[in-house]
Amino acid sequence: MSVSARKTLILNADGAPLSTWPLSFVTPEEAIKTLYRDRAIVLEEWPDVFRSPSVEVRIPKILMLRNYAPVHAKPKFCRRSVFLRDGFACQYCGNKFDSEELTFDHVVPRSLGGQTIWENIVTACVACNSAKQNQAPNMSAKKGAKGGYLRPLKPPRQPSTAELLRAGLKLLDPETKQNFGDWLYWDTELEK
Ligand SMILES: [Zn+2]
Repeated sequence: MSVSARKTLILNADGAPLSTWPLSFVTPEEAIKTLYRDRAIVLEEWPDVFRSPSVEVRIPKILMLRNYAPVHAKPKFCRRSVFLRDGFACQYCGNKFDSEELTFDHVVPRSLGGQTIWENIVTACVACNSAKQNQAPNMSAKKGAKGGYLRPLKPPRQPSTAELLRAGLKLLDPETKQNFGDWLYWDTELEK
């Protein structure tokens, strides 16, 4: 594989990746700069060598920061975070979709005073969202049944940053899992 196709995974000083979706990769050039500034240690290297007129160095595969990079305990409330929290699944019918096919739904519609907050926003497919329109949620409705768009499968809530990191791991492609998987399960339970 060519040097430029290599990627370096950056781990925080506690061993957790800085992000999982997308995974916290940098280019070989950036990785080597980080090393030269003495900001990280190498945990694993690629077999390839990076060469420039002044430098010849094995490309780091895994770097761990020397100093802990502070991570907000509360993730940013944004499109990406809501989809991650909900696992890219419509919270009414439970089906998974690509992000382009997903929308946000206010559980309590804005027209009824519903706010745009973690606790009132869920991922919804286009069909469920348009079926629900501006109806209030019916919490006594049967979940996931016909008309299930009147009730989210689980009550939405604010996730922690750690929860979103773990959610991102579920979305890794097989090649990334194979190459970096050994370094990514820093605090997750083993799958049974
Ligand atoms: Zn749906």
